[in-house]
Amino acid sequence: MTSKTIELSLDEIFNLAKASLLKHGANEENADAVANTVTNAERDGSLSHGLFRIPGYIKALQSKKVDGSAKPEIKEVTPTIFRCDAKNGFAPLAHKYSLKPLIEAAHKFGIAGVAIQRSHHFAALWPEVETISENGLVGLTSVSYTPAVAPAGGTTALFGTNPMSFAWPRPGKNPIVFDMATSSMAKGEIQIAARDGHSVPLGTGLSSSGELTTDASEIDKGVLLPFGGHKGSVIALMIELLSGPLVGETFSYETKERDNGDGGPVQGGQFILALSPEICSGKDTSDQIEQFINKYNEIDGVRLPGARRHKNREDNGPRQVNAELINTVIRLRDES
Ligand code: NDP
Repeated sequence: MTSKTIELSLDEIFNLAKASLLKHGANEENADAVANTVTNAERDGSLSHGLFRIPGYIKALQSKKVDGSAKPEIKEVTPTIFRCDAKNGFAPLAHKYSLKPLIEAAHKFGIAGVAIQRSHHFAALWPEVETISENGLVGLTSVSYTPAVAPAGGTTALFGTNPMSFAWPRPGKNPIVFDMATSSMAKGEIQIAARDGHSVPLGTGLSSSGELTTDASEIDKGVLLPFGGHKGSVIALMIELLSGPLVGETFSYETKERDNGDGGPVQGGQFILALSPEICSGKDTSDQIEQFINKYNEIDGVRLPGARRHKNREDNGPRQVNAELINTVIRLRDES
């Protein structure tokens, strides 16, 4: 089944997203940061983190789970460790406040980290690490969520879909960047497949009765599986630790316990690490990196991670957006 789409320019996407957030109580600064993240996701073809997320952001504003006027606070704990209290606000503004001191410290000391607390993350992770790499640094981050993924061998969800993202700088070029859920498929992708009536590969998840199925709507009601069997499962476990206790925040199951279940982004933590290749290696390694990428690209059938999104980004033209979704967001914007 192919769903109907409507053409919107990137400016129209931004304005629609921002106006709908403002309408439901976000202040200018928060609405701007979230709308920017949503628009960049549509621009890059990361559809499960574009306008698709606006109804969820708005549910969280309506239920007052998220403070749409939050002003994040950054504390320098040591010269290389920062703690950001997102003040119960949306993650994009916490990133805006955190990344500048993080990048400055990594340039000065070679390594720096920020522990983000009380943040509501509902987006892709590449915007954080790409910003770090655009500033000549390596970026690494992860977040947990609420239980949706069964550890390898099990049928009960304990891990979130726990994405991680990594970016390596390439002066004058797009960074090498990957951004992936550690579940076999991101939850948003399952929801979109369920909405559009598409099936998914066997091994993606289990139905509510614990059976393997290709039916996305059955998996949406059941559990996802980790990517790569036990190997993905142990990485998801690491992300539970890095995004929870390391930053003074919750595991996915604890996050769920305190959430009000409104369907909007849950409150949780995030650790972001920045590293300077120059300071670590003591030299300029950019020629070595480019030679490696040439070798990589010489192999038939391969492409760099991030290349799909970066290609989409070259097109500044309008985007095709699901018509039903646009109508939903317009209704939210125009609610009295
Ligand atoms: P994908 O499986 O689509 O892609 C994962 C990575 O692999 C991407 O960096 C992609 O690059 C790259 N890639 C894909 N195909 C190839 C290939 N043939 N060769 C080399 N690299 C390739 O992503 P997921 O579905 O796992 O995740 C989607 C998004 O969901 C992520 O942005 C993630 O952050 C987000 N998410 C957010 C959560 C949250 O709580 N905030 C929870 C879970 C997921 P490219 O982009 O260029 O295709």
